[in-house]
Amino acid sequence: MQKLHFSLIKKVISSVLVFFILLLSMLTYFHYTSVVQSTQKCERDKSSLILNSIEPIVAVDLFLGFDEQLKEYLNDIIKQNPMILQLTIKDHNNKIHYLYKTENRHKFLHAQYTERTIYNKISSEPLGKIEMLYSNDQYTKVIHDYTIFSIFIILGAIGLIVILIMILRSTLRPLRELAQDLFQYDPKELHFDKKFDPKDDEIGTIQMAIINLVNKINDYTKKLHQLNRELEQRVYDRTQKLYIANKQLRKEIKERKKIEKALRQANQRLERLSTRDTLTNLFNRRVLEEKLESFWKMALRDHKPISILMCDIDFFKKINDTYGHQAGDQCLQEIAKIFESVIRRSTDLVARYGGEEFIFVLFDTPLPGALKIAEDIQKSLAQRNQSPNTKIKMTLSIGIASIIPNQKWSWENLIQYADQALYQAKENGRNRIEIATLKV
Ligand code: GH3
Ligand code: MG
Ligand code: MG
Repeated sequence: MQKLHFSLIKKVISSVLVFFILLLSMLTYFHYTSVVQSTQKCERDKSSLILNSIEPIVAVDLFLGFDEQLKEYLNDIIKQNPMILQLTIKDHNNKIHYLYKTENRHKFLHAQYTERTIYNKISSEPLGKIEMLYSNDQYTKVIHDYTIFSIFIILGAIGLIVILIMILRSTLRPLRELAQDLFQYDPKELHFDKKFDPKDDEIGTIQMAIINLVNKINDYTKKLHQLNRELEQRVYDRTQKLYIANKQLRKEIKERKKIEKALRQANQRLERLSTRDTLTNLFNRRVLEEKLESFWKMALRDHKPISILMCDIDFFKKINDTYGHQAGDQCLQEIAKIFESVIRRSTDLVARYGGEEFIFVLFDTPLPGALKIAEDIQKSLAQRNQSPNTKIKMTLSIGIASIIPNQKWSWENLIQYADQALYQAKENGRNRIEIATLKV
């Protein structure tokens, strides 16, 4: 903490002292004026007193004519009063009865004149006149002193006023300079142009405090700039890392998507392998049995009819033997296509039951509907055989079994009946449709 110097108090005290000196001078001036006036009055009174004392004697002389006695008397009076410079006694005809004039001529410079007319006390007629010039030494001295004193007072006051103005100017200058510097101060530039040298007084302390404050602001601004730069760098680094991480992540997501796609395809392949027959791409026997069981339960619950078509290619062994196993496979694939083309509903299902045997499961389809499908198959196959491109002719025997399920029956029973109908078709000459008669 800066130590405070109380020079302002000193300045105030000196100002107060100056004020009191001026006040004292004023009082002394007034006192002096009164002394001057008193001195003047005193000398006037003294001259009046002299005139009063000589007046009766002079009156007697002018009335009776005792000039010699008057002369002696007045000479005594003049001896006792050196202030009398000239004394003249005249009668009413202006005849001089007595005249005294001092030889010290320079004393006449500040001489005062007074006169007194003398009257006859009885007749009140004027007898004569006393004229007197008296010296004003005391008064002149006082006036002289007063003039010198006044000049000193005026010069002193002017000097003190000048000193006071200088003190005020010197006190206020640093404040003005500080204000100018502060107006020009720009925290952005981090530079405070200090043009003055702070003094050891209150204003100097304020200047130092302001400079200190400005320096702190500069320091904090510098730190703030530094922090801003660091923050910007950190944000930049973080953004870079995030960008790289994001890139990496996108790459990983892309790879993962690729893997997922491959997995999905593998799963689909796997599912196809587990549900489909690899040669014909029809459902396999496992799916057939599962579906049939669930359709059976639904039909049982809803009292819906369910029909089964069991198909077997006629003399397929011979085809294999004649054209080869590979040609046999192609025939199986062709006939699978025909089967897929005849089914229309989403609930209709065809599966490879074994070798060259196939089963249709037709949910919610009564016997006429099943018969229609069987006839469509035969028609399509016949058309295929009539095609000139077809080398290997194929015929098909179909056994149909149709039922509205009840608790006594199972889907296995229905397959058995369809198988029996197929056997019947084979027995009856093949390439035909037979319907099982169910003993419900
Ligand atoms: P039928 O009219 O009484 O049914 O006589 P079929 O010769 O068709 O019947 P059979 O049961 O005697 O012979 C079936 C033949 O089907 C035997 C087998 O060689 C053949 N076969 C079974 N599965 C396949 C297969 O996946 N591919 C090939 N090419 N032939 C198969
Ligand atoms: Mg067979
Ligand atoms: Mg056969």
